[in-house]
Amino acid sequence: MTKKIRNEIPQRNKVKAKLQQEINSICPFCDNDDVGHFQIHHIDSDPLNNENSNLILLCPLCHSKITKGDISIDQVIKTKKQLKNISGNIKFISVSVDSKNCGWEQIENIPYAFEVRKLTSLFPIFNFSFINQSNNTVLLTNIIIKTKRLPAGLSGPNIPLPNILRPIVKYKIKLPEDGKVTNTMILEELEIPQGRAFKFQVELYDVSMERFKPPFNKFILSLKFGFNNDFNIDIPNILLNSRRDNLQHVSIS
Ligand SMILES: [Zn+2]
Repeated sequence: MTKKIRNEIPQRNKVKAKLQQEINSICPFCDNDDVGHFQIHHIDSDPLNNENSNLILLCPLCHSKITKGDISIDQVIKTKKQLKNISGNIKFISVSVDSKNCGWEQIENIPYAFEVRKLTSLFPIFNFSFINQSNNTVLLTNIIIKTKRLPAGLSGPNIPLPNILRPIVKYKIKLPEDGKVTNTMILEELEIPQGRAFKFQVELYDVSMERFKPPFNKFILSLKFGFNNDFNIDIPNILLNSRRDNLQHVSIS
């Protein structure tokens, strides 16, 4: 076999960190956890294919087993697939609004609908919670938002909500222009250990609070949460200042 010329994997440390997270710092083929010595294997043997789906981090012993054929390519592909199945194990639990710190409250009996009740603080602050039911640590890496403006209409009565435990992490994101999609990369990625529920806040803002004022500013918000720079989790659309049911869907393509 001729010696392969290896192209340096771009941002090698970052790639390696991500792959390390994917395997939870344990060799996916044995129980070796000496992760400092782990190597990156190109699943399709193409050293130029540095797509995440083609890379797997493993211990040097298992790496050589693959090279010798003691671990089959099929098995490697299957293992990688299982690692990637994490996305199915990140579950959205709930969204609520931090009524204590912003002028918004949930509209009773209408799921995922919120409206302004106090005109003092019009930038809504949402609490999102998810659970990581996978066997790996995951990172919240980006938040994708799309808005769709709804026709103006009537506003509603006052019913207070029970207080919600304050989460620690808050991300401030500018409300996208109508119909536009924004993808906000999280600078300090949120690390979620395996088997844990987690909560974080998103505050939506704009150049002025005018855009959030009821009753004429009604929006459908469509959100996706990105994990490991790799997969996105959709959540139900959120209604702002609107009581209509979520019949209209804003899809992010
Ligand atoms: Zn191993």
